[in-house]
Amino acid sequence: MAALTDLDDQALLTLVQEHGGQPFQARQIAHWRWRHGVTDWSAMRNVPASLRERLAAVVPLCATTVARTDAASDGTEKLLLGLQDGDTVECVIIPDGERTTLCISTQVGCPVGCVFCASGLGGVRRNLTSGEIAEQVLQAKLRLPEGRSLTNLVVMGMGEPMLNLDQLLPALQRIHDPAGIGLGARRITVSTSGYPRQMERFAAADPSYNLAVSLHAADDTLRRQLVPSATATVAEIVTAAHRYFGRKGREVTYEVVLLEGQNDRPQDAAAMVELLGQLPCTVNLIPWNPVPEIVAARGLRRPAVGRVDAFAEALRRGGLKVTVRRQRGADRSAACGQLRLRHRDGAPA
Ligand code: SAH
Ligand code: SF4
Repeated sequence: MAALTDLDDQALLTLVQEHGGQPFQARQIAHWRWRHGVTDWSAMRNVPASLRERLAAVVPLCATTVARTDAASDGTEKLLLGLQDGDTVECVIIPDGERTTLCISTQVGCPVGCVFCASGLGGVRRNLTSGEIAEQVLQAKLRLPEGRSLTNLVVMGMGEPMLNLDQLLPALQRIHDPAGIGLGARRITVSTSGYPRQMERFAAADPSYNLAVSLHAADDTLRRQLVPSATATVAEIVTAAHRYFGRKGREVTYEVVLLEGQNDRPQDAAAMVELLGQLPCTVNLIPWNPVPEIVAARGLRRPAVGRVDAFAEALRRGGLKVTVRRQRGADRSAACGQLRLRHRDGAPA
């Protein structure tokens, strides 16, 4: 059943009017839910109890509940959210100095099946609804300590965002809406494993958000080994990213998950310089976060620090801007999809 957070303003207005309410009351209800994050109808003090009761009988206020939380010693906190159909998704709060970034999911599982990723291990179960996507932000905000507010959002949790744009775009609209959560579009980054047609649609969205592309390799043969279901070529993905985002004067971020001996060799760095050297972009190197099931089944390894540094240096020498992601939440199943995996298997995370 759709929850209140799945409704856009028009649908909420219609529902409220059908139950005897006035347009301004629809706005008040939206304000309580999106601005204040209330999870209980009775907290909506200026809405008459009779209207609240009629609405409560037909629409749940929340699509998600916090099923479990998992805090790491560096301040990172993972939330496992229970959905109405009994499935779960995760989001991660990452404090870093003045910044607080939230990483959210778009699907239950993922259909892409990148060989190094926990989210893709069981395939995809379903798309999240727009309410389930946007509620991750509301749930995270309720957990922030006094004085801390959410500054950045990354859509880099479970799932492939471009394969669920129908739900993601309205969710981002809600998250961005100044009358609601009010997070600036420039503080929102969506990461994709590369679907040119959908990237075009995403780029046309108003307001426009930042794009990160999970490239992993500049060579098509190698990339297909890492992202086996990839249909677009590297050239098509890079062209799409720059055609649409270059025009808006935005920089594209390329993400490269480094796996020892697979895509962290000098020739891999050289191919990346050749591909990206002349383009306005930043390359974010992510030393692989080992997933025990994947280590056991596929023997993948996280590269030693020296290899990561050498790769970064080779890119820099080739004129690229490079960042290396620090490991966060390292002492607890940190990689995307791992908390859900542990939870599903019934083992402690
Ligand atoms: N499906 C989208 C967004 C979710 S994954 C995408 O692939 O871009 C977000 C990022 O996490 C991607 O860059 C992905 O390659 C990376 N990632 C997934 N599993 C990882 C792991 N075990 N260690 C490090 N990075 C990982
Ligand atoms: Fe899906 Fe992204 Fe994981 Fe690949 S890395 S399986 S696209 S979530």
